[in-house]
Amino acid sequence: MPSNKNNPQNNGVYNSNATQVIDPCMLADDKQKVIAFHFAKIMDSLGLDRNDPSLQETPNRVAKMYVNEVFRGLDSRNFPKVTLFENTGGYDEMILVDRIALYSYCEHHFVPFFGEATIAYIPKDHVIGLSKINRIVQFIASKPQIQEKLTTEIGQKFNEILQTQDVAVFIEANHLCVASRGVADKRSVTRTSFFGGKFRKEKMKTKFFNSMDKF
Ligand SMILES: [Zn+2]
Repeated sequence: MPSNKNNPQNNGVYNSNATQVIDPCMLADDKQKVIAFHFAKIMDSLGLDRNDPSLQETPNRVAKMYVNEVFRGLDSRNFPKVTLFENTGGYDEMILVDRIALYSYCEHHFVPFFGEATIAYIPKDHVIGLSKINRIVQFIASKPQIQEKLTTEIGQKFNEILQTQDVAVFIEANHLCVASRGVADKRSVTRTSFFGGKFRKEKMKTKFFNSMDKF
């Protein structure tokens, strides 16, 4: 008979080593129910009074926010519709989109990190609808992760969609797990980059950085 000592519903003690496999295809509504149930337990453990009218709906609010908003990027069914256009004009220079607002969550502490992203590419046969670049960045950002992984994932996704290695990504972000706790350093920022294809050459890196607002 399988041991159920790791089931948080049995004895109220959560063992972080226990792995609970949740069906990734679970409906959004069902996910929300599971999250709301467990978030209520977290609030109870902290001694919060869930009968307080201000807190009553918090477990449901958090569950909805996780599934539909800040962690929607965990469900590939939410991936934005991508519009590609034939590169009929034969444009072969860099296209750079700067200052893309970015909100994500640190997977180590489950608190936000946020900042701006810059994406550049040199088109081959297709160009992408400009606003789609923002939407794809924002979608990939919408899940718990670390900035390093986020930067690489965005670069590789654009390699795949645009069918070219000539992609560059730069992210500058503030991490609340650094600013609001721990070392409590409010001003420090983290910068990460991804360079593929022609962007690996110093000349292109320089062109990329020169085209950005910051540098
Ligand atoms: Zn963190």
